[in-house]
Amino acid sequence: MTAEADTTAEHRATTGLSLRFEVASSPRLLALLEREFDAIAATLAPWGRFTQPVRLHVAADLPTVRALAGGPTDGILQAAATAEVVVLLEPSRWPTTPPDPALRTVVTHELAHALLFQRCAPPGRSRPVALPCWFREGMAVLASEGRPDARRRIEAASRTDVARLAHADATAIAGEPDATYDVAVTLFDAWLQLYGMRKLGALCREMRNGRAFAAAFASSCGVEEAEWLTATVRQLHALASDGGTTAPR
Ligand SMILES: [Zn+2]
Repeated sequence: MTAEADTTAEHRATTGLSLRFEVASSPRLLALLEREFDAIAATLAPWGRFTQPVRLHVAADLPTVRALAGGPTDGILQAAATAEVVVLLEPSRWPTTPPDPALRTVVTHELAHALLFQRCAPPGRSRPVALPCWFREGMAVLASEGRPDARRRIEAASRTDVARLAHADATAIAGEPDATYDVAVTLFDAWLQLYGMRKLGALCREMRNGRAFAAAFASSCGVEEAEWLTATVRQLHALASDGGTTAPR
């Protein structure tokens, strides 16, 4: 199979996730999905149902990833997502060829983005209203890697620039991916522990109805995002100073 070969490989899961390879195929990705698709779908199931299929486009080079992303690419740089399309750089072209578990995590992470975008994009749009980094990346990291362990939370909590990284743009994410993802998943996890999946659904619904994130957050959570962020950063710093024995709310 060449990198340019068309393929009609299609996977469907009972959770509504339907994935279709588009244009260039990757034997390695095809094999991985053949083996792991149901497990990936099960991992994403608690986060809601896909309402439309996702096309997986394997790109031969980074400019193609960026062009297909139609905007700034993910901090991972080798991948991007909209509500309908996940673009992945052919794994053999990555700076360091990822082992299978890492590749699976990236695929799951991007599909988590697609799912969240489907849940909060207004009808007829493949992108949601602008989502802050901590919410968008935090959800994808939590969905694909699970809850942050104490080390990861303390790493995030110890930083003096949590508030800045919470709203990191694509350039900042690319410059400090580890710190940005640590902060994002720690904040999103704290938010979800406090508000739960029902509030996540309410927040998505508000944005689907056309509200900006800040307005949707204030309306569904009963507090301004900035106020919640300040309080959470304070709790995280307290966590860091007591060595992580107090779980953040
Ligand atoms: Zn991401």
